[in-house]
Amino acid sequence: MVIDFGRPLPYVHVTSGWWDDRSYRGGVHEGIDCRAAVGTPVLAVEGGRVVRAQKTLTGDPSGLWVGVEHPGGVQTRYMHLSRVDVDVGDRVPFGAVLGLSGRSGSSGMNSTTPHLHYDIRAREGGQAHQEYIARFAIPGPNGFPKHGEWVSLPAEPLTIVHSYEERVLERAAKHGLPVKGYGFGLSSTLFLAGAVLLARRYV
Ligand SMILES: [Zn+2]
Repeated sequence: MVIDFGRPLPYVHVTSGWWDDRSYRGGVHEGIDCRAAVGTPVLAVEGGRVVRAQKTLTGDPSGLWVGVEHPGGVQTRYMHLSRVDVDVGDRVPFGAVLGLSGRSGSSGMNSTTPHLHYDIRAREGGQAHQEYIARFAIPGPNGFPKHGEWVSLPAEPLTIVHSYEERVLERAAKHGLPVKGYGFGLSSTLFLAGAVLLARRYV
């Protein structure tokens, strides 16, 4: 399998890319933000099973949100919604409406600029994770952002690849580290150059 998902909105306009600067979780954004007027249908980017359907506010900065698990150990998440239309356990096909976009989160229903936060996470060591790393492999000096068993992946093909490409180089230079592949044994420079070329095909 290859992660080759569709779009989470009818029209995608990315306002904040994967690995853009943030003040939390290691200083990087683990997803992409897409401009979306409140009430825009939010779509499943691939078929899967709903594993999270947060329909009430809990103080979680994510607000109302949906998580969908896809084959191969990968999840997609859709946050800051104004309405959630699915339940945990539902099987959803590609393109299914999961809910409506909004600006819920942090401290209430209207606390952020209207946008959809969309992210992809893979279970570390799972099939999707391994294939993704093999295909793109542009980790920073400390690898991809990771939390527990989940590794955050670029929301390819929607992510702004050059933003994290630059960050990888910047961080590597700052720490005086070569940019490592995951055990591919290639020279770091060649490896990164190849990975960047590969990634550019998907911009
Ligand atoms: Zn975001």
